[in-house]
Amino acid sequence: VRIKGNYRYEIADLASTLNYMAQEIVRSNQIKDDFISSISHELRTPLTSIKGWSETLISGGYDPEETKLGVGIISKESNRLIGLVEELLDFSKLQQNEMRLSMGAVGIKELLQEIVLNVWAKAEKKQIRLVLDAEEGLVVYGDANRLKQVFLNIADNAIKFSHEGSDIMIHAYRLFEDQVEVVVSDTGIGISEEHLARVKDRFFQVDSLNGGTGLGLAISQQIIELHGGLLEMESELGQGTRVRVQLMLADAASGTINTEEKME
Ligand code: ADP
Repeated sequence: VRIKGNYRYEIADLASTLNYMAQEIVRSNQIKDDFISSISHELRTPLTSIKGWSETLISGGYDPEETKLGVGIISKESNRLIGLVEELLDFSKLQQNEMRLSMGAVGIKELLQEIVLNVWAKAEKKQIRLVLDAEEGLVVYGDANRLKQVFLNIADNAIKFSHEGSDIMIHAYRLFEDQVEVVVSDTGIGISEEHLARVKDRFFQVDSLNGGTGLGLAISQQIIELHGGLLEMESELGQGTRVRVQLMLADAASGTINTEEKME
């Protein structure tokens, strides 16, 4: 077919757009396939261990110490499964715009102290030192549990991707008149520029062998956005990563965020 004049260019444009769209579909299907395979693996590992220990204990003949060890593992692995399923449910709630925040005054320093206590044991195992430097009296208007979830995810990642014996710094200070900035910095493995652009995408992981679902940061970013805030990451491969979260202070935020009471 001979096509005359400008149509030729329009058709060429259309073809290249379609080509791009087809590549995007292939890419997003690939990401979903990878996700299904990594989530199946994440579910199977604790289930195998729960099955193994419960069958062993049912067969009987174990002393109290061994029984305690087995039951302890069953309980730990069940908690891991609950965490995973909750992450999936949160993700689907956010996708459907159904996450409701339960708003109240949240002290940033107190919240971060709780985070440090929560991840202390995990850090200790890698001899990682957690340093918290938070200004007093910074209060935001937000959902304490959801904000805790965000900072736990960030701190967990910092520990997971840090080298043994390194330091993780958590700073919180007033930014401008009406905002607070929390910065979590590690000196861990870092993220290349190419990957950094995608780490906050749902399902994305630099290396699926590290465990996890690749949903944590996508969920965290959306929770912060629901609070009218901002989550940003800076990183350099081999040097470390810095996660910044900016939130409005309570006096500045009251009346500006459209909130709905928790209905779950
Ligand atoms: P998950 O940790 O469950 O894989 P996340 O969404 O929390 O999911 O993180 C996505 C990916 O981003 C991680 O798998 C990892 O590759 C990268 N990442 C996140 N935080 C850090 C960090 N502090 N240092 C290096 N890489 C990180």
